[in-house]
Amino acid sequence: MFKAILLNKNDDGSTRAELTQLDEAQLPADGDVTVAVEYSTINYKDGLAITGKSPVVRKWPMVPGIDGAGEVMASSHPAWKAGDRVVLNGWGVGEVHMGCLAERAKLKGDWLIPLPHEMSTRTAMAIGTAGYTAMLCAMALAECGVKPEHGEVLVTGASGGVGSVAVAILAARGYTVVASTGKLAESDYLKSLGAADVIDRAELSVPGKPLQKERWAGVVDSVGSHTLVNAIAQCRYGATVAACGLAQGMDLPATVAPFILRGVKLIGVDSVMAPRARRLDAWSNLASELKPATLEKITHEIPLAQALVRAPTLLAGGVKGRLVVNVSA
Ligand code: NDP
Repeated sequence: MFKAILLNKNDDGSTRAELTQLDEAQLPADGDVTVAVEYSTINYKDGLAITGKSPVVRKWPMVPGIDGAGEVMASSHPAWKAGDRVVLNGWGVGEVHMGCLAERAKLKGDWLIPLPHEMSTRTAMAIGTAGYTAMLCAMALAECGVKPEHGEVLVTGASGGVGSVAVAILAARGYTVVASTGKLAESDYLKSLGAADVIDRAELSVPGKPLQKERWAGVVDSVGSHTLVNAIAQCRYGATVAACGLAQGMDLPATVAPFILRGVKLIGVDSVMAPRARRLDAWSNLASELKPATLEKITHEIPLAQALVRAPTLLAGGVKGRLVVNVSA
């Protein structure tokens, strides 16, 4: 038997989340690698799953946890053997396949990537899907030609998981990062990650003009809705916006003006189904670029039971940085 968070659907459609014990026979039969999970994490999507606030869980019962890092216990997949250290992000795990907020997970070998050398499983989960997505966004900006000398880059939702890691990555790459946050009291935290300036997210979160004063050479947006639209409207000629999130909303009440008059590029970033080669590149960059001391500022470790308590707080925007879950604690 092992500890796990289990989600069930109540008769009224609401979600019941509890800390319980499972045995391996309850894990998915189509997984070909059994992993002893050491650390998991709470991403925004895990918050939605645990609270039932959005229908991200599509198979019941479900163990949430879209991210996990640990050691292979048994494998019938040719790429993996007992003792291998692995990381899992996405692929529908924690949504349609039992996830990693548990001491064991039975996963598909094709989904796993090797834990980068010299990275601990705790560090991998301090990064998690949020940090790996932040890196995918930074890679998108670079691939679209955004260079530090082109001017300021904006990170929205800056005190959250994606935002905190994006600030750290972009600052380490030499960009002048402006952090947009609803938590101005966390300005020192954001500056300690590398932000050159901090702005109040209220400047971006209400409807604005289709074209505004040009400021940003690049944008990493995890917020969507009016925030994303205003960020696009404030882009310089030829700027690139990497859009990955919807913390404010899924809507995009925009005009085409910034695209057809300023050549602004809007790049969608998805981590869940990103191809393996792209993941390996992202994790290799994360391993070499993120300093452990910076990550430690972002990281808050919690025991498994606390995942239930912190999920609604995270959805309310009340978590700074990344919640790392020690599944055995
Ligand atoms: P967090 O909850 O850690 O961070 C979200 C941050 O957004 C908050 O901390 C807050 O930052 C800001 N925010 C929250 N509510 C609002 C609001 N109503 N209006 C404006 N800003 C708000 O979540 P994550 O960083 O884990 O995820 C962020 C988003 O990215 C989510 O929508 C998530 O689904 C998405 N995502 C997408 C992925 C992909 O593959 N495309 C992968 C990972 C995440 P502050 O207080 O600083 O303003």
